[in-house]
Amino acid sequence: MKEKKKWHPATKAVRLQMDRTYQGEHASPLFLTSSFAFETSEDIRAAFAEEHFTNTYSRYTNPNVEELSNKIAALENAEAGFSVASGMAAIFGTFMALLKSGDHIICSRSIFGGTNSVITKYLPKFGIEYTYVDAVKTEEWEKAIKANTKMIYFETPTNPQLEIIDLAAVSAMAKQHNILTVVDNCFATPVLQRPIDFGIDVVIHSATKWMDGQGRVLAGSISGSKELINEVYLFCRATGPTLSPFNAWMISKSLETLDVRLERHCANALKVAQALERHPKINLVKYPFLQSHPQYEIAKRQMSSGGGIVCFDVHGGLGGAQRFIDNLEMLTITSNLGDSRSIVSHPTTTTHSRLTEEERLSVGITPGLIRLSVGLEYVDDILDDINQALQHV
Ligand SMILES: *Cc1c(COP(=O)(O)O)cnc(C)c1O
Repeated sequence: MKEKKKWHPATKAVRLQMDRTYQGEHASPLFLTSSFAFETSEDIRAAFAEEHFTNTYSRYTNPNVEELSNKIAALENAEAGFSVASGMAAIFGTFMALLKSGDHIICSRSIFGGTNSVITKYLPKFGIEYTYVDAVKTEEWEKAIKANTKMIYFETPTNPQLEIIDLAAVSAMAKQHNILTVVDNCFATPVLQRPIDFGIDVVIHSATKWMDGQGRVLAGSISGSKELINEVYLFCRATGPTLSPFNAWMISKSLETLDVRLERHCANALKVAQALERHPKINLVKYPFLQSHPQYEIAKRQMSSGGGIVCFDVHGGLGGAQRFIDNLEMLTITSNLGDSRSIVSHPTTTTHSRLTEEERLSVGITPGLIRLSVGLEYVDDILDDINQALQHV
């Protein structure tokens, strides 16, 4: 079904879908097919000559993948979109398609672990230099610009520190210098924040997280102008980080409930953050919509709600964090986030264990830091479990 511009994003997430087949199905069917058949030699010639759009082979296009890409692009207010096998495939594909040897990228120091590996280990192999900056200071970004700077890359809120980067300020500064801006919008989702509305060029998602929302499948997406997305598409169709139609079908259906789910995730997270802020065994709570958050004003400007992630530092450092985690009865210990179930993780010993202690502290990852992905359980049950586990800290 074609997008109606006046629809609210919540309606688009429910209503946008591929055209009905002759069967008249209501829900989108699943196209588990690697290739598509043609009636005549002329038909397949014209398809391969790209004289008009037709599916030919699922590494190129597939109706389920296309439905998901179009839906995410519509939610992000982008002209075009493409989806791939994982968030990391989206990030790597974007770098490979839009950067070349001799280019320079500026990135926020606080960044997803996998993205850090790509930037520091693999981009230099292709002759692409990087500079990390203290993300919350817009003037630091400008100072890091060199003659060959091609891209500015960041997340907001950042993982796991939940720092907020001023989308409007960074994008305005980048435009003055003709630099592309790319934002990983995974933590906020297009329900809470649409970076393109603030002038950002490309928006990336790990759809594995809130978009699937139930911890089942992996996917990644890239949204932006037709021109930029076409570059990413051409790179991906040649190199094959292809999204499974099954995963696309799952996530597209999940997007129908993204808006309602986020409403509950955010309400639960705010209550948990407020309760933790008063708790005697907690040193520090970080949540974008707490007034104590250092970038609270910016968060209020660019996000419609604080998101589902809360970070806090427990008394007792490493030992305190481990005692807290080991005494939880309901919350799950796993490294995923954005699930219907509440999840705790300990960045120091898991996602960020490869950094040195000094590097961790420079991005605010203290030994006692816990990252909590607040689920859809009844909020008092989440709080009860946290409170009883904190007694053991
Ligand atoms: C999980 C995550 C990624 C990577 O996504 P995958 O789907 O696991 O490849 C990238 N960025 C952020 C912020 C993430 O949380």
